[in-house]
Amino acid sequence: MSVTSIATAAYLAAALLFILSLAGLSKHETARQGWTYGVAGMTVALAATIALTVHDSTVRGTTLLVVVPALVVGGAVGLWRARVVRMTGMPELIALLHSFVGLAAVLVGWASYVEVERHGLAGAEGSLLRIHHAEVFIGIFIGAVTFTGSIVANLKLSARIKSAPLVLPGKNALNLAALVLFAALTVVFVVRPALWSITAVTVVALLFGWHLVASIGGGDMPVVVSMLNSYSGWAAAASGFLLNNDLLIVTGALVGSSGAYLSYIMCKAMNRSFFSVIGGGFGIEAPRGDDDGAQGEHRETSAAETAELLARASRVVITPGYGMAVAQAQYPVAELTRLLRERGVEVRFGIHPVAGRLPGHMNVLLAEAKVPYDIVLEMDEINDDFADTDVVLVIGANDTVNPAADDDPSSPIAGMPVLRVWEAAHVVVFKRSMASGYAGVQNPLFFRENTAMLFGDAKAGVDEIVGALAAVRPELAAV
Ligand code: NDP
Repeated sequence: MSVTSIATAAYLAAALLFILSLAGLSKHETARQGWTYGVAGMTVALAATIALTVHDSTVRGTTLLVVVPALVVGGAVGLWRARVVRMTGMPELIALLHSFVGLAAVLVGWASYVEVERHGLAGAEGSLLRIHHAEVFIGIFIGAVTFTGSIVANLKLSARIKSAPLVLPGKNALNLAALVLFAALTVVFVVRPALWSITAVTVVALLFGWHLVASIGGGDMPVVVSMLNSYSGWAAAASGFLLNNDLLIVTGALVGSSGAYLSYIMCKAMNRSFFSVIGGGFGIEAPRGDDDGAQGEHRETSAAETAELLARASRVVITPGYGMAVAQAQYPVAELTRLLRERGVEVRFGIHPVAGRLPGHMNVLLAEAKVPYDIVLEMDEINDDFADTDVVLVIGANDTVNPAADDDPSSPIAGMPVLRVWEAAHVVVFKRSMASGYAGVQNPLFFRENTAMLFGDAKAGVDEIVGALAAVRPELAAV
């Protein structure tokens, strides 16, 4: 059997392992197994690609000199980043990695253009050559959009630029003009490939990607991240066509379609139009400015008072958010849950689909702290139960519990489903200040009569409650 056919079989095995990996990653219980399949698939794919490169006598000694150091340096940097990244830094790292895929697709497209200009394309003339030119163009376009779009996403997620949407005059017309220009340039390039048209499409796509993501507000960033994930998949698939690599085509299509599906699910969960979000907020009016101002009086509470409230409660719901991740409060939260359950209090968690900074963020943290899966409920499973709840602990959540989404049509997050925590008898909000959440919108929940603010770091606050709870006599419970 030739090396080429062994590599083809290995590529097929790797593609199957990637599909198994996606299936495994879709549930908590099988996520670890899914991860193992993914690692195995990538190992097989890398081994097969290296074997093919070694086997290709025309590149031996030249390409290998580039491939091996690139592999070693890239692998080392990847390993180092993965080891040092904090969980809260994952979304921005993922956005940065998407930008690399985009950049790689642009470089592959340019390299392929230069190669064909110099040496022609063996065995391809007429319509086949035109198909190749179209592939080059589409690959560069998707890659460049992914590249700059992901850089903006990285800057927004790491708070190096404001998460509020950029609203240029005629922003929808600008986006449409970029698409029309791309279509026109593609036709020109396919008919008569030239340096000016390929340069023009690269510049147009770089600007388009930047504008597309800059136009999207903080509340819609989760969809943007999965959308860029999808784009990076299509960019990789486009490179696969140019490099004649079946595995890259299959893997790119898998990433592209699963990312698109995730974007669709997230849009549905957030009551947003899929096409509007992927069109850079197409059709959405400019939201009114940041309304970080005060909206009335808020009431403060202490850890000791909260401990007493909890000791008297029969039903407690905890709604965690990004602040729990920042404070790493999941361990004391798990301890508090255990203590309350020992006292006969029913404790459940309500998880908003976009809580934190990446899909499933809260579920991962709670699983890490060994909170039982069966008391961790999705927003739709728990939203009708708040009216029967004695105490809700909002731990570092803000946008996901903002009633303005429900009752203020002019709010930038209007229409986004939220956890209706305010329906409970008592709400305690753990945060450090009155600052707004990621979407930059003030939260009227903080000024409701049944809400009390527990200011300070969430971990310190929960730790204190755990300590204070021990001092509250159990016979006070369930009054
Ligand atoms: P938010 O980002 O709305 O709010 C988090 C709150 O945590 C802040 O108001 C902050 O207030 C508080 N906080 C920060 N650090 C601490 C700390 N150490 N101790 C106590 N509190 C702290 O959180 P949500 O989870 O409710 O909402 C997520 C937001 O992120 C949504 O807008 C969502 O669209 C967006 N997003 C989600 C992504 C996803 O995939 N899940 C991806 C990208 C964006 P203070 O500073 O006063 O302490």
